[in-house]
Amino acid sequence: MKFIFVTGGVMSGLGKGITCASIGRLLVDMGYKVVPIKIDPYINIDAGTMNPFQHGEVYVLKDGTEVDLDLGHYERFIGVELTGEHNITTGKIYRNVIEKERKGEYLGQTVQIIPHVTDEIKSWIRRVAEKSNADVCLVEIGGTVGDIEGMPFLEAVRQMKNELRHEDFMLIHVTLIPLDRGGEQKTKPTQHSVKELRSLGLQPDAIVGRCAERLKPETKRKISLFCDVPVEAVVSNEDVEDIYEVPLKFREERFDEYIVERLKLEKRPYKRDWEEMVKRLKDLKEEVTIAIVGKYTHVRDSYISIVEALKHGGIYAGCRVKVNWIESEELEGKESVEIEGDGILVPGGFGKRGAEGKIKAIEFARENNVPFLGICFGFQLAVIEFARNVIGWEDANSGEFASEGHLVIDLLPEQKEVDRLGGTMRLGEIEVTIVKDTLAYRLYGREKVYERHRHRYEVNPMYVEDLKRHGLVVSGYSDGGRRVEIIEYPKNDFFIGTQFHPEFKSRPYSPSPIFVGFVKASLENRG
Ligand code: GLN
Repeated sequence: MKFIFVTGGVMSGLGKGITCASIGRLLVDMGYKVVPIKIDPYINIDAGTMNPFQHGEVYVLKDGTEVDLDLGHYERFIGVELTGEHNITTGKIYRNVIEKERKGEYLGQTVQIIPHVTDEIKSWIRRVAEKSNADVCLVEIGGTVGDIEGMPFLEAVRQMKNELRHEDFMLIHVTLIPLDRGGEQKTKPTQHSVKELRSLGLQPDAIVGRCAERLKPETKRKISLFCDVPVEAVVSNEDVEDIYEVPLKFREERFDEYIVERLKLEKRPYKRDWEEMVKRLKDLKEEVTIAIVGKYTHVRDSYISIVEALKHGGIYAGCRVKVNWIESEELEGKESVEIEGDGILVPGGFGKRGAEGKIKAIEFARENNVPFLGICFGFQLAVIEFARNVIGWEDANSGEFASEGHLVIDLLPEQKEVDRLGGTMRLGEIEVTIVKDTLAYRLYGREKVYERHRHRYEVNPMYVEDLKRHGLVVSGYSDGGRRVEIIEYPKNDFFIGTQFHPEFKSRPYSPSPIFVGFVKASLENRG
C-alpha cells in the first residue's frame, strides 16, 4: 500500500480538495485503485451542525454521514463511494481515545497526544487503507500547516513516514504563488510554509503551486532550490475555466509521471474517458440559464453539488449551464415576481427565512410552465404552493415554521415523540420506488432507485389523497408508500420535486437523470 499525504500552506481556500481529487484521478486513469481520506482538524464530530455560510455545502455520503464538500469532489473525480470512515475529524479521534480511556484500555497510563492520539490517527488511516484493497491511499489534511488543530495529524504523518518504506510514502504540499503588481510570481510565501513544514519534521516530495498562471521555469527552479525538491516535482495549478481540467493540466506538467516514479509504481497508459468528458464540456456551444432561488446565494459553495450536477446534465443535454443566482428574500413582499431563467431550481434549505420568496418563485414556474426542479426543501415548498394556490388552502404550511393550518409538510407522528432537533434527521441512501407512466419513470427508466437524503420533514400522509385529487402526481415513494419521495405537476411540461438530493449522486460521466431531464427541458424552453 502506498500513501500520499497532501498538506496545504499559506492560506486556506486554495482548492486543495480539488488538487487532491485530481491527483486521485491521475492514478485512476492509469488503472490504479485509490482510496481517499479527508482529515478535518476541527473538533466537530461531523459537518452536520455546520453552517453553510461558513463552510459551504454539507455533503451527504451514502451511509448518511454529513461531511465537508471536498468529499463530494473526491466522489466525482475519483469515482468512488465513500462512507463516514473516510472522513476523520479531531472530534472522532478524541471520542475514540476517551472511550478507550474510560474502558481502562490504556492500563493506567497517562493518556497523551503523543502517542495515544497519534496512534489513534495512524490506526484509523491504516484500517481504512487496508480494508479498501486500494493501491494508493490519498490523505488530505485540511487546514493550513501551522494551525494548532492540525498538529497531532501532522505528527502522525511524520511518524508514518518512518514506519513506511521510502517508496510507499509521499508528501505533496499545496501552496499559493501570488503575483505582485508587476506580474512577478512570488515564491516567498511558499518558502515560509515549507520551512514551517520542515520544523515539524516533514519534507515535501512535491509542491503544487496555485497561481493565476502557469509557473515559469525560473519560479520552479527557485522553489526547487529553496524548498529542496526536484524541479520536476514543482507543479503548476493555474486558474482554469473548469475544475475538471485540473487533472489534464497536471498531466501536461507530467505530474503523473513524477508520482508513479516516486512511488515506484509502473507507468501505465491512461484511459481517455476523463479527457473526452472535458472535451465535450468545453465544446458545448448552446447555453441555458438556470435560476437558482436560494438563501445562501452569495456563498456559492453552499450549492456546489447542485452546480456540478447541472453541469453534468448540460454535458448530456448538449449545453453549458449558466446560473442566475436569486436571493429568495428579495422576492418577498412583491405583488408579482418575474424570474429570469430558462428553468427554475429551488434547492434544499432550512428555516423560515426566505421560504415565502421561494414559494413565489415556484408559483411563477408553475403558472408560466417554466421547467422546475425542487430539491428537498424546494420539493416541500412546491407541495405547499400547490396546496395554497391550486387547492385553495391559504393556510397551507410546513410544521417546520407553523403550528397551525393545513400542515401539508410535517413531522410524522412517530418523529414528534422524539426530541425535535436531535437525531431525527433522515440521512443517506434510501430506496425509492418509481411509479410507472410518470415523468420520473421516463427519466430514470427503472422502478427502484437509490438516492441520498437529508431532511426531517415529510409530506403529511393525511393530505396525500387531497393533493392527488387536485392533480399533483406522486411519482416516487418509499417506506412502503408512507413517505412521498417525488411529486410532479403533469399539466406542465417539466415540473418535478424530489424529497431526496439527486445532486449528491451525479457524476460528470454518469449524470443524475433528474438533472439531465431538467436541463434538457430548460434548453427546449429556451427555444
Ligand atoms: N428543512 C427541511 C427538512 O428538514 C428540508 C431540508 C433540506 O432541504 N435539506 O425537512
